[in-house]
Amino acid sequence: MIKVCVCVCVCVCVCKMVVYRFLGVGGPVLVTGLIPRFSARFYNNLTNNNNNNNNNKLKNKNPVRSVSGLRDATHTLSTHTHSGSVCVAEREVRVRFAPSPTGFLHLGGLRTALYNFLFAKQHGGTFILRLEDTDQSRIVHGAAQDIEHTLEWAGIPPDESASRGGVYGPYVQSERLSLYSAAAASLIESGHAYYCFCTNHRLELLKKEALHRGQTPRYDNRCRHLHADQVQENLAQGKPHAIRFGLHAEAEPFEDLVFGWTGHAVGEVEGDPVILKNDGFPTYHLANVVDDAHMHVSHVLRGAEWLTSTCKHLQLYRALRTTPPTYAHLPLLLNPDGTKLSKRQGDIYISHFRQQGALPEALLDLITNCGSGFNSNRIGRNLNELISEFNVSKIVTHSAVLDLRKLPEFNRVHLQQRIEDGLQCRLLVDEVKNLLTLTYNDLIQERDVLDHNYILRVLHMRKRHISSVKDLVSPVYSYLWLRPSVSWQQLEEMSSESHDIIAHVMLVIKGRNGEYTPEFLTAELKLIAKTLKKTKYSSVMKILRLALTGQQQGPSVGEIMVSLGEDEVCCRLQRILEA
Ligand SMILES: [Zn+2]
Repeated sequence: MIKVCVCVCVCVCVCKMVVYRFLGVGGPVLVTGLIPRFSARFYNNLTNNNNNNNNNKLKNKNPVRSVSGLRDATHTLSTHTHSGSVCVAEREVRVRFAPSPTGFLHLGGLRTALYNFLFAKQHGGTFILRLEDTDQSRIVHGAAQDIEHTLEWAGIPPDESASRGGVYGPYVQSERLSLYSAAAASLIESGHAYYCFCTNHRLELLKKEALHRGQTPRYDNRCRHLHADQVQENLAQGKPHAIRFGLHAEAEPFEDLVFGWTGHAVGEVEGDPVILKNDGFPTYHLANVVDDAHMHVSHVLRGAEWLTSTCKHLQLYRALRTTPPTYAHLPLLLNPDGTKLSKRQGDIYISHFRQQGALPEALLDLITNCGSGFNSNRIGRNLNELISEFNVSKIVTHSAVLDLRKLPEFNRVHLQQRIEDGLQCRLLVDEVKNLLTLTYNDLIQERDVLDHNYILRVLHMRKRHISSVKDLVSPVYSYLWLRPSVSWQQLEEMSSESHDIIAHVMLVIKGRNGEYTPEFLTAELKLIAKTLKKTKYSSVMKILRLALTGQQQGPSVGEIMVSLGEDEVCCRLQRILEA
């Protein structure tokens, strides 16, 4: 299969088509814009198939009319096609992230949203957030708000959504029911759909029988063959009914941007699917097709679990006489042990990572690094770099392994980038201040550790070592904010020369000539160690670390001294000498 990189130039596309034709290739495989072509044979089959269907007294009366609210397919095709292919530049890129508000946003959802966002921004397009809430029984309170807020937090807000509005709203499916019923009525009218009066009891029996025979349960399409009079009688009697779409046996192949040419003979293996339920709500199949068409969605980037359903959706587009979008199915996200990343694990929700201090850019970087869609993988890409480097043709079909153990390292790299950015760092200082107030409350009395420049210095000293600002309020860094209580006896036990060491260090600090860096201090401490008779350099470090921090481990003594500042170091050492 030929894959051509995202084409934004009409001329290039046309040239490539000429080359492929010259080579005798069936057609150019333009990754971003192919409109599946429906052969005359396929369409004839479709029509013949429905000629057998008596479940529609109005069939063929107006078979080519477009559905209310949907694009006129003839117009779209005539303005956008070159032998069936279309380039990105010719069609406004509009993509959507369409989650169900049946749970809070998790890593898998964030990745799908991100890939849509990247694709939209790369092509100057529009990123839509649509809530698919037609399964009202599974809606989780607050999930809809969580999804949009989380996208905003992650820095990938939608351009059109329920809260932001847009030209093609409403952006919540339960508020669009009239569109689906109009589409279903139109499909009945054109003979592509039919009323199904089967009771739940009958459907259950069908299922049981199939399972008993060791077969996959499927609807037997019985109501497709009901006589028109029977249908009218049932409707007149007010019998409960659903509306089913009549699938065709033939699989019309389509080109998926990730999986290549794909075709599934859904009509051969599945029964006709319900498109409008008894309660007037659509199923996913109808709702996503009607909405994507109505919202002029040009490209659908969604989970690979929908790949086999796409043939069904393309049949629906065909029947509705509207242009389907181009599809790109994204492979699954897996745990390192190969198991599916499950929402039930709890710790894959974005709110969990947020609470843990994860930076949004680190999460985005991690979920794109573990998968594909880029020429190369590297740590530290920011959102602008993700947009410019994203390459949909580089997405591979095999599942992506997400190793969350790498998150602290990604967070560390991105935290360092924030610390090195003046404006962002100011916000971090405020965050540390808040954390300090929350963590130590009244304990901070002895000096002004909440000083902006002091926190700023600490952040810069520790930027290569901390993966979250929360680390700074953990016990190992408590010495930065509280004076330790160290007794003279503790130091005496370590070396009888402790007094000399401390006195020496204070002399160095007071006698230095403006220089106060970890390197300068380390060199001076080495010189002090050389003058001692009984204490090695490593022990000198241990004594000073204990004196200054009350701890036996931590950063280098030179760094500790610079972080605390010369006055505070002298103050702490003086207190020990006087103790
Ligand atoms: Zn039926």
